[in-house]
Amino acid sequence: MTIHMRGNTGNDSQIRLVIHGGAGAVKLGKQRREREQAYTEVLAQSLVAGHAVLEAEGSSIDAVIAAIAVMEDCPLFNAGKGSVFTHDGRNELEASIMEGSTRAAGAVAGVMTIRNPIRAAHAVMTKSPHVMLIGQGAEIFAAKQGLEIVDSSYFYTQHRWNQLQKAIVKESILLDHDAGLDTLPGEDEKHGTVGAVALDRRGNLAAGTSTGGLTNKHSGRVGDSSIISAGTYADNRSVAVSTTGTGEMFIRTAAAFNTAAQVRFLHTPITEAADNTLAEIAAIGGDGGLIVLDADGNYAMRFNTGAMFRGTIAEDGIAQVGIFSGPETAVVSI
Ligand code: ASP
Repeated sequence: MTIHMRGNTGNDSQIRLVIHGGAGAVKLGKQRREREQAYTEVLAQSLVAGHAVLEAEGSSIDAVIAAIAVMEDCPLFNAGKGSVFTHDGRNELEASIMEGSTRAAGAVAGVMTIRNPIRAAHAVMTKSPHVMLIGQGAEIFAAKQGLEIVDSSYFYTQHRWNQLQKAIVKESILLDHDAGLDTLPGEDEKHGTVGAVALDRRGNLAAGTSTGGLTNKHSGRVGDSSIISAGTYADNRSVAVSTTGTGEMFIRTAAAFNTAAQVRFLHTPITEAADNTLAEIAAIGGDGGLIVLDADGNYAMRFNTGAMFRGTIAEDGIAQVGIFSGPETAVVSI
């Protein structure tokens, strides 16, 4: 790939995209280098896909969808294709999306046949008077909108099935990254919920989140990822936020809105706001991470777990990707 530098474009906003691919106690095992490389590549592809939209003067909403769809289509992450199983062996997916200029929002939950739930969330936002549709109603709606419907077996992956069996034996409900760390073949099964926040050339923010939820969750359980204000929030007056972690605690703390509210009403710096939210979550026994972006292009990628798959890209088209704590690594230029 060649490096393509772009100059400042007058009064236009500087574009930026920030993504996450879940947080947890990630151990990559003996083949750490190869596995790190595999994650890094998909995160970079996601960043490049979103960047292409922003670079072509596309909207932050479209950039968020493009970035998330790449991760939904990859079995490495717990969203779309790589979704984890419920206790009774089903894949129940959820996603949400929000636009910062209008605070329009859309979400789906408990869907089992929509290939890209993030597209369905967007369709709910743009093509219905509602914010959230669940289950069969959401699936029928998505089909009517021409979205790709798949047989539920599309979401079956052996490693997720194995992960469920281990969780059932241990009688635990697992955050994906923490699931079966030492027990699964390849030790590479720690991949999570995905999310993106973007700022487009017009200065508009957007946020989106997509997940398969928690391994061994009760059928019908809905997490934070599809709940506007918990897993996703965007408001041009403050920030765009996408979260990942122990969903129940993110719901109880209204984590995404909580972060945005601190920035809007208390003028808290975004990193501090994110850390305050994580501290509240930790205080009630939860953990995870979140990505935050403001309308000036300032961003934060914060987590209180061992790792968070994450990355960012801006005008220069250089994708910066990180997994463990420490600086993000420049991995690819477009
Ligand atoms: N927050 C998600 C949930 O509770 C899980 C995750 O972020 O990995 O469904």
